[in-house]
Amino acid sequence: MQDNFLTLWTFNFIDSLMYVNVIPLTRIPLSKPQIYTYESGDLASDLKIGQVVEAPLYNRSTLGIVFGTAKTAPANIKYKPLTKIIDPYPIVGERDLRLAQFISDYYYSSLGLVLKQLTPELPRKKMKKLTENLAKLNLSVIARSSEPLGTTKQSRENYESHGIASSQTPRNDLDLIINSPAERQKQYRELIAQNLQAKKQILFLVPEIILLTQTENWLKQNFPSQPITLLHADASMAAQLLAWRQAQTGGAKIFLGTRRAIFTPFYNLGQIIIDEEQNQSYKQWDMNPRYDARVVAEQKAALYDCNLTVGSSAPRVDTYFKSLAARPSPLVPRRSSPVSIIDMRAELRGGNYSIFSDALQKSLAETLQEKKQALIFVNRRGESTFVMCRDCGAILRCPRCKTPLMEHAAKTLSCVHCSIKMVSPVVCPACRSPRIKGFGIGVERVEMELKKMFGDARVARLDSGSATRAKNTQARYWELVNGQIDILVGTQAALPITAPNLELIAAINIDSILNFPGWQTDERAWHILWQIAGRDDLKEIIIQTYNPDNKLLQKLISGKQSDFYEQELNQRKAFGYPPFAQLIKLTCKSDDYDYLTRESLKIADKLKQELSCSKIIGPLKPTPEKIRDFWQREIIVKLELNSKNDKLESILRDLTNEWNIDVDPIT
Ligand SMILES: [Zn+2]
Ligand SMILES: [Zn+2]
Repeated sequence: MQDNFLTLWTFNFIDSLMYVNVIPLTRIPLSKPQIYTYESGDLASDLKIGQVVEAPLYNRSTLGIVFGTAKTAPANIKYKPLTKIIDPYPIVGERDLRLAQFISDYYYSSLGLVLKQLTPELPRKKMKKLTENLAKLNLSVIARSSEPLGTTKQSRENYESHGIASSQTPRNDLDLIINSPAERQKQYRELIAQNLQAKKQILFLVPEIILLTQTENWLKQNFPSQPITLLHADASMAAQLLAWRQAQTGGAKIFLGTRRAIFTPFYNLGQIIIDEEQNQSYKQWDMNPRYDARVVAEQKAALYDCNLTVGSSAPRVDTYFKSLAARPSPLVPRRSSPVSIIDMRAELRGGNYSIFSDALQKSLAETLQEKKQALIFVNRRGESTFVMCRDCGAILRCPRCKTPLMEHAAKTLSCVHCSIKMVSPVVCPACRSPRIKGFGIGVERVEMELKKMFGDARVARLDSGSATRAKNTQARYWELVNGQIDILVGTQAALPITAPNLELIAAINIDSILNFPGWQTDERAWHILWQIAGRDDLKEIIIQTYNPDNKLLQKLISGKQSDFYEQELNQRKAFGYPPFAQLIKLTCKSDDYDYLTRESLKIADKLKQELSCSKIIGPLKPTPEKIRDFWQREIIVKLELNSKNDKLESILRDLTNEWNIDVDPIT
């Protein structure tokens, strides 16, 4: 009795003198601490891990997330008091704070930036509709799942080390499904049904917006009694927060999202499904944190102790390799729609100079006659991929990036790297010759030619330029499904589309993805080839090429998928590429050419000196060397597996603002 009384008394006493550790939601250089300590003052009894709070930081005020608390803090430091609690309900729990730390450590990205990027913004003032919707949820579940502060062992440890949580070892039983889209869906349906029965939540990830619409439609058909909650960045702030709270409270069971959704905290997550796992959109390559949702998913599954299933018609070499540990031969026999490889050299010899082979023209005519639909794949955007003078050979280039300009059907030019747009010149700027002309076939050119050839057909276009606009993409999808389009021309973004009347897929110029140098290019071409040829819901698949003997095409039609993976793995082992090594790409940008040269040489030298066991490649001049008005240099660090060390850490953490760190780069 006496003991109990004492403990209680002590607890209350310390409560009022608590220190709270906060991660400011802002980018802080990695060389500085990522977590700051404050006095909790009057707020102590209301504080919970994962809450968004307001706190002073240097001379300003910032939002932050409560990371943990402590009863004591180093003396001789004056701690500022926390300003206020923005929302009583934590935005993340402890598991996802650990996930954020993993992302921050693994991808060398500021912890505050990771959390700012991956959590929804809280509305600054009350929004009536949102408040009403939130009231329907049992928000107290979130509060209860966060333990009171200052009492858990975990939060003390966090404080003592200001800790970098060591990453969880992902479980080894990666569940990989290699099959056609229709067969994969059958397996996903089974998994979802099992989890619903067990009253667990399911997170279904797709790489592109267009698949969001298509998959939502499929989920609704298969689970009509379940609401499907969408998690993606294009939704309104209120919709994003509501979906987030539904995940946290168990207010919904099936969640569908794009890469960012992997960070959503769940109440009771049983299953993560990543479809089209080979798709590069799962990696955020163009801004920090440069994370890969597939890597984060492995950590998430370990933290939540839930299942992770990934599926593809042709998985990444890396995933294939990982799955070998669980199952020596993960490839299953498959049925596929009939594939024809058309030799375009023979077409030329036969006098057909059109971009469509005789076989394709015939199949298109038949498809239209039968009121069915076709999807035409073109690798490039625009009308022509470059414009060249036939007299002097000059190529029109972007004045800022120096890369060839792409020409559009409206006779305008644009740069693929920056936003520059201009009117196509009538004469060559170098020699004044009028014989200046676009070369290389882009989506717009194919669209134009189709309209010429099949005057009555309804032809529409979906390319990565227009695919980024979510509404446009959804509109194209529904137009196709509802039979308002006869032929859809698109880049890779259009390839996963399915529609009940879609019977023909054709690739116009597949050679533009084959035969490139680079250790990842064969793999990328392989993924595209299988997205075209790995389907079993079509009547016909046509691939046009000038290189029918190409090794990838040969492997594709031989049907022995494992040959590709075995050969690729052998080569990577021999030359020390992933999955047998790890790559980190460092990019330095500056508008000062001389400074850039000096700085990149300095860092490369330092890395070479300090890391004798790793291979340092560079500084290299990337293509393009200049984007917008900034010159670039790259350094590639090739690490043996599990050889990250303190020296590397300290060099990378001390890099200046001009540097970008990309772990496991895809470009
Ligand atoms: Zn010229
Ligand atoms: Zn440019």
